[in-house]
Amino acid sequence: MSADYNVFITEETIEGADDGPLADSTVAVKDNISTEGVRTTCGSEMLDDYVPPYDATVVERLKDAGATIVGKANMDEFGMGSTTETSAFGAAENPAAPGRVPGGSSGGSAAAVAAGEADLALGSDTGGSIRNPAAFCGVVGIKPTYGLVSRYGLVAYANSLEQIGPLAPTVEEAAALLDAISGPDERDATTREEGAGTDYAGAATGDVEDTTIGVPAELVEGADEGVRERFEASLDDLRERGATVEEVSLPSVEHAVEAYYVIAMSEASSNLARFDGVRYGHSGGFDGNWNEAFSKAREEAFGEEVKRRILLGTYALSAGYHDKYYKQAQDARAWVKQDFDEAFESVDVLASPTMPTPPFEVGESLDDPLQMYLADANTVPVNLADLPAISIPAGETDGLPVGIQFIGPAFGEEEIIRVGSALE
Ligand code: GLN
Repeated sequence: MSADYNVFITEETIEGADDGPLADSTVAVKDNISTEGVRTTCGSEMLDDYVPPYDATVVERLKDAGATIVGKANMDEFGMGSTTETSAFGAAENPAAPGRVPGGSSGGSAAAVAAGEADLALGSDTGGSIRNPAAFCGVVGIKPTYGLVSRYGLVAYANSLEQIGPLAPTVEEAAALLDAISGPDERDATTREEGAGTDYAGAATGDVEDTTIGVPAELVEGADEGVRERFEASLDDLRERGATVEEVSLPSVEHAVEAYYVIAMSEASSNLARFDGVRYGHSGGFDGNWNEAFSKAREEAFGEEVKRRILLGTYALSAGYHDKYYKQAQDARAWVKQDFDEAFESVDVLASPTMPTPPFEVGESLDDPLQMYLADANTVPVNLADLPAISIPAGETDGLPVGIQFIGPAFGEEEIIRVGSALE
């Protein structure tokens, strides 16, 4: 059955402990999260036969919680994409919208949940890769605050931006999965004590009485009309339940996509340097010249989108251009953070459409990378600011799923879970 949507790159069962809070749950794990003894490809030919010798911390925690892992989920190569079409193992399909992409880069994870091939899934979100496929497949996805979930064993794309997080059919189930994987880890020095011991599933009360929801005009203007209608209808629901909705402004987000792509590509160019066929990855063979061996390995085994990003990232970091691109992007990042801080002085959470459009048709976005990058306008500001966000199904437009996103202050997962659950 799983062949139908091409959800898994590797289908293999990994049993967890006999009991625990997730003892009755099956989980699909994105294929950039290391599983001991089970190959972890990152959706790339480069790691076609890579078998990690250890588990990621989140995988250890899943096992401890009693979960059964049912497979390694399809994804855009190294997390670079918004449709799962850059996967070297073929695109996944959208079970909720035939002929459309499931979103990305955690498209296999979201499609697994939407198709019922797993109860729950883990994805990773560098610039929207959990929320985008959640919105496109009509499921719930949470991008945690930077530092809430360990990245130990996550193959890095852009480490200052990414977090592992849950996908599930409901807010409460996503929150229960967050309960299992979150909390400090001595093997990831960027994890924090904040949030430890919180009962996230218990926060899914649906109570929005006295909650103030801010709507940044900048994140609504660019959305399709059908998406805006569903977004407004969701806000009306929340008002009826006692929430107050007010407009806020985040002027800096206009620069978020540019800043995100400069930072993400710069970090990627450095992170992916280890895949040279010697330290890691597909071998280019050795003919007496190491430089040739490395470039042959990389030429053969990286896809087009990954190569584009390594080239652009290397350029942005090169001597003479560093101040012009990388430093400017870091300044923009600081400005985005500051805008969010100011907004949270007057509201509890922020709301926007998760994606500006319904799911694209298969093949639609591949020949226009810039168009694909612009589709991330509403998700990347959250990663630049290290904040938590959740995407919740907000109905359909012309039969296609629409998602609404709630953004919280740092370690404000309980707030966004509470508000999100009010729409179920
Ligand atoms: N679409 C974004 C990118 O390609 C987000 C990817 C992600 O979050 N991994 O970079």
